[in-house]
Amino acid sequence: MNLVLFGPPASGKGTQAKRLVAERGMVQLSTGDMLRAAIAAGSPMGKQVEPILAAGHLVPDAIVIGLIEEQMPRAEAAGGAIFDGFPRNVAQAEALDSMLAARGGGIDVVVRLKVNDAELLERVTQRFKEQGRPDDNPETFKARLEQYNAQTAPLLPYYAGQGKLVEVDGMGSIDAVAKAIDAALETMPA
Ligand code: AMP
Repeated sequence: MNLVLFGPPASGKGTQAKRLVAERGMVQLSTGDMLRAAIAAGSPMGKQVEPILAAGHLVPDAIVIGLIEEQMPRAEAAGGAIFDGFPRNVAQAEALDSMLAARGGGIDVVVRLKVNDAELLERVTQRFKEQGRPDDNPETFKARLEQYNAQTAPLLPYYAGQGKLVEVDGMGSIDAVAKAIDAALETMPA
């Protein structure tokens, strides 16, 4: 099964993806994690994207599409993947559809975690205190939220049009959201 976890920054995508990995043996493909690893490793690509992440902007499509493409064999071997933070615009979604179609697959379901801005701000403030992720500072977070609203939210009609969008209330506790996601996945054909 190929699943997209969709939602604004700090909506719980990473947390829920990790749980699904632990419980179902699925593979998590987080472009944000891959980019942060490249920055930490000091690779040329990491150096190129570091200021972009620091500003809360989107890195070029070719980079993230390339990162996902590299992981396709691993995802295929695991029987599918959880896409976390990818795609973030329509061009990326189209690229993902063609990568999967070339392997005889496709996205099965897109789970949208709905969380309001006040709650996002509260969560990210807490995460900033606990983890110190530079792009979680309030100014950069505002920029990330703007990118989400301008570039990523327009993907919702794209997936709704394909009949793949399932909305989940992301405001509750981690366990409550997990239950809601599991219930949504049960409605999917196996
Ligand atoms: P995330 O951990 O998913 O919140 O991503 C952190 C940052 O990495 C984002 O603010 C972007 O700068 C960059 N990033 C992650 N995924 C993508 C993507 N699919 N497209 C463009 N930029 C991305």
